[in-house]
Amino acid sequence: KGERLRLPPWLKTEIPIGKNYNRLKNTLRDLNLHTVCEEARCPNIGECWGGGEYATATATIMLMGDTCTRGCRFCSVKTARKPPPLDPNEPENTAKAISAWGLDYVVLTSVDRDDIPDGGAEHFAKTVVNLKQRSPALLVECLTPDFRGNLSAVEKLALSGLDVYAHNVETVRELQRYVRDPRANFDQSLAVLRHAKAVNPTILTKTSIMLGLGETDAQIYSAMKELRDSGIDCLTLGQYMQPTKRHLKVEEYVTPERFAHWEKVGKEMGFAYTASGPLVRSSYKAGEFFLKNLLE
Ligand code: SF4
Ligand code: SF4
Repeated sequence: KGERLRLPPWLKTEIPIGKNYNRLKNTLRDLNLHTVCEEARCPNIGECWGGGEYATATATIMLMGDTCTRGCRFCSVKTARKPPPLDPNEPENTAKAISAWGLDYVVLTSVDRDDIPDGGAEHFAKTVVNLKQRSPALLVECLTPDFRGNLSAVEKLALSGLDVYAHNVETVRELQRYVRDPRANFDQSLAVLRHAKAVNPTILTKTSIMLGLGETDAQIYSAMKELRDSGIDCLTLGQYMQPTKRHLKVEEYVTPERFAHWEKVGKEMGFAYTASGPLVRSSYKAGEFFLKNLLE
């Protein structure tokens, strides 16, 4: 549909750098950690690593390699039917490195590994167990694949000792087929989050929606409502950015005012927290929001 949209001014502004940023940046060397923050050149790195009011440094670490078995139309991660096998030492080595790094809140995420029977749930769980043994105070969020709706895989991870179980529905119900790999869908993702909470009610569940893919206000509203009615605790909304010309085009740059509107709607619906803004990503200042929610 037509020409590419121009980048609006609110996506060009400088991002503040928090006070812990340099410390984390300097100590990252030699740890052999692959942070999504650096590799995706995330614009929030100054804020996430720097921490805010509660000085909570958050970073996102990638597990299970850099090659995905799926091909979502918004995502630039490379794809193969059979990526290299998992590194059995990764859970321990990653836990060791994260513990040495000095974070307050870590998000563990991964590509989808449909080639592995449990989708990598055991691998995720082992990493959490290792991390919590080394650093009991560290808050751990897992941002997971849907494990093809395999609920015993979900259960394994939900009971591993993590604090936040996150899985993204990515877009409104009506655009699922257009945006995500055909193996993913809204109901399967909802079932994953519901099951995680059902087997472990002490964890928080969390999901994320990208805006700007052509969804209508009514579709956004009903997606939010369905998520809340399913008992999901936390929601983030951010602007979709086209990673390369081969990916889905941005249909709309949603204004900061509209994002603020959806944040208000989320609060009114009763999410424990709603983070909504053009640059908000699923893990954006996750530690900061978590603590704020617990302390206020
Ligand atoms: Fe990207 Fe995740 Fe889709 Fe794989 S499953 S293509 S990593 S969004
Ligand atoms: Fe890292 Fe996520 Fe924060 Fe970006 S939003 S800097 S990927 S933790």
